[in-house]
Amino acid sequence: MLLADERNSIVEFGKKMLSSQLTTGSGGNLSIFNRLQGLIAIKPSGADYLTMKPEDVVVVSPKGAIVDGKYKPSSELRFHLALYEKRAEVNAVVHTHQVYATTVACMNWELPAVHYLVGFSGNKVPLAKYATFGTQELSDNIVTAIGKYNACLMANHGIVTVGQDLGSTFATAEELELVSRIYCLGKCIGEPVILSDTEMERVVNKFSTYGKQSVE
Ligand code: 13P
Ligand code: ZN
Repeated sequence: MLLADERNSIVEFGKKMLSSQLTTGSGGNLSIFNRLQGLIAIKPSGADYLTMKPEDVVVVSPKGAIVDGKYKPSSELRFHLALYEKRAEVNAVVHTHQVYATTVACMNWELPAVHYLVGFSGNKVPLAKYATFGTQELSDNIVTAIGKYNACLMANHGIVTVGQDLGSTFATAEELELVSRIYCLGKCIGEPVILSDTEMERVVNKFSTYGKQSVE
C-alpha cells in the first residue's frame, strides 16, 4: 500500500481528534506530506473517523491529482496543498472545529498571548477572514493570514495548525485549545493580561530546545 505509515497515522490521529474533543462527527481534516516521495495522504471527505481504514485514506500529488484511493479527498484539499507549497518546512496540516478556539474565531478575534503556550503558534494566533468551506477564497485567506505562524483561526469556522510532523501539529491544536479556553474564561471575568512580543520571542526560542533530554 502506498504511504502505509502515513495512512495509518491519519487513521490513528483522526480517532484522537474525536477523543480529544477537537472535533465532532466527520468535521475537520488532516494530512501528511511525504516530501521524499512527493505524495500527500489526506482524510477522505465526510469520513467517519471511528470506522475509517488506512486504505480509505486518499493519496494525492502536490497538485491534487488522486494517485491512490477510492474516495474523494477532503473538501479542504486546496488549503492543505497551498500550505505545503508555501511552507517548505511543513509536513502535516490539521484542521479542527475545537470549541474554544472556534469561539474566539466566531468573535472574529485573533488569539493573543494570554498564556505562554500560545508560543506553539508564535506570539499570537492570527485570524483568517471568513469564506465558505472548501473554497479557493478560504484557502487564499488562510495562506495570507498564517504567514510564518504555526496556526491560524478561521473566522466563523475553526482552526488550522501546521508543523514538521503530525504528532507535533496535533499537539499544537490541543495546546491552543487550552489557551483559547483560558482566554474565553478570562474575558468572562475581566480583561486578560497579554504577554509582550519580547517575552513571546523568548518563549518561542526556549521551545526550540524544550523536551525530554538526557542530562549526560
Ligand atoms: P471534509 O469532511 O470534506 O474534510 O470537510 C470537513 C470540514 O471541516 C470542512 O471544513
Ligand atoms: Zn472545517
